[in-house]
Amino acid sequence: MVKEQLIPRGIHDPKTLAAMRKVPRHLFVEEALKNQAYGDFPLPIGRGQTISQPYIVALMTQALGLKGHESVLEIGTGSGYQAAILAQICAKVYTIERIDSLLVQARKVFDSLHYLNILTKLDDGTHGWPEHAPYDAIIVTAGGPRVPEPLLDQLADPGTLVIPVGDRGVQDLRKVTKKDGETTEKTIEFVRFVSLIGDHGWKSD
Ligand code: SAM
Repeated sequence: MVKEQLIPRGIHDPKTLAAMRKVPRHLFVEEALKNQAYGDFPLPIGRGQTISQPYIVALMTQALGLKGHESVLEIGTGSGYQAAILAQICAKVYTIERIDSLLVQARKVFDSLHYLNILTKLDDGTHGWPEHAPYDAIIVTAGGPRVPEPLLDQLADPGTLVIPVGDRGVQDLRKVTKKDGETTEKTIEFVRFVSLIGDHGWKSD
């Protein structure tokens, strides 16, 4: 996966590559899909949701530019795989999911792997998690119509937020950087994510 899918497409950050080598992706998918877990595509995880393609997980992780000391907020726990990757690289991961059954399953995997630096919450993540803010980095793994205002407010200065923004079919993956009170945005790539549903996202499934 790392040699054939990530390095040739420009994933070069050593911490990202080490995490992608280490985390057992097959534990985050259901039994019947385990033999496809390391394939170059997203997979269904139930309730109409997906675990992202390995390359997209690595691209978003690399874009955060993590050094190791950071506190990171993730919106859209899903299978828990992205949170597990982040947990190898930063100090603490706070991850929010709106679908109970997905969060229960993700927590089981975190426990079985003893990933103790991941905290989870069942909620509409478009409001962020104000109690633990500010976050050095925020990653949104579902596509919304705009950057949710509460997430920008909860981003540290300096800080980096990565989010797919666009319509419900295609989005651009945006990297938003906050520095000295100013925010700048750049598009990294075009992507297709499931919808970010919530008060500061799309209104319904
Ligand atoms: N990061 C996940 C992984 O590694 O498996 C992939 C997540 S999947 C592409 C997107 C997830 O975002 C879904 O599980 C969906 O239920 C969740 N989601 C959508 N809107 C949300 C919201 N407002 N708050 C929290 N989770 C949300």
